[in-house]
Amino acid sequence: MTSAALVFIAAMGLALGSFLNVVIARLPTDWRLSGLAWPASQCPHCQSTIGWLDKLPVVGWLLCQGHCRTCQQPIRLRYVLIEAGSALVAIIVINQFGLTPAGLSALMLSAWLIVLSGIDQDTFLLPDCLTLSGLWLGLLSATLYHHTTPTEAITGAALGYSVLAGLNAGYYRLSGREGMGGGDFKLLAMLGAWLGVSALPAVLLLAAGGGTVWALGAMLWARRSRYAMMAFGPWLAVAGWITLIWGHEWQTNIG
Ligand SMILES: [Zn+2]
Repeated sequence: MTSAALVFIAAMGLALGSFLNVVIARLPTDWRLSGLAWPASQCPHCQSTIGWLDKLPVVGWLLCQGHCRTCQQPIRLRYVLIEAGSALVAIIVINQFGLTPAGLSALMLSAWLIVLSGIDQDTFLLPDCLTLSGLWLGLLSATLYHHTTPTEAITGAALGYSVLAGLNAGYYRLSGREGMGGGDFKLLAMLGAWLGVSALPAVLLLAAGGGTVWALGAMLWARRSRYAMMAFGPWLAVAGWITLIWGHEWQTNIG
């Protein structure tokens, strides 16, 4: 990648991240995203208007040192992490797949996963309008053989849903508690559609591994309860994204 292309893709990624922040904040209460102002034009605490310079991704946050200029309330660090993260994600995706239809569809999946993670972290919900639309888009991308084949995609969607739904039903019978939400099943179905059935073991292993390490850490250091709620969606999303980018390399190395 030339440095000009790198700067361009990073800038597009930052702009995308600032848009995704708005979607994460608005979608749970307004799924039609009516009146979508982009980028966020008001302070979430005092509703004061944000100046255009402060709206710039990452730079704006640094300029006002992470605080609203009017009410001095801190601005969530996650806004900046999502902006910077989206830029990094865009660079990695385009570097891996190029500016091709497969690269653009991978970027689209990445955007869906970022929004789903943010919303799950805030609300413990994975909205159907994202998981189901993501599932259909995954099947469509498979008809173009972007990241998997149509057969792999259909089997992946069906099995992704059933495996988690089955595990959850078993867990419920044993413990009387819901281990996961239905949104998690649909998210794994969506990842199955995008990545194919052969990618599911890697996705589940990475997600469960990451989630377990995190939960143990939280119990040991933050003394959180064993049963404290933890969103599993972000782990599935990260695991799916890692498999999207590097999964083919593992498969060719093993196979
Ligand atoms: Zn404010």
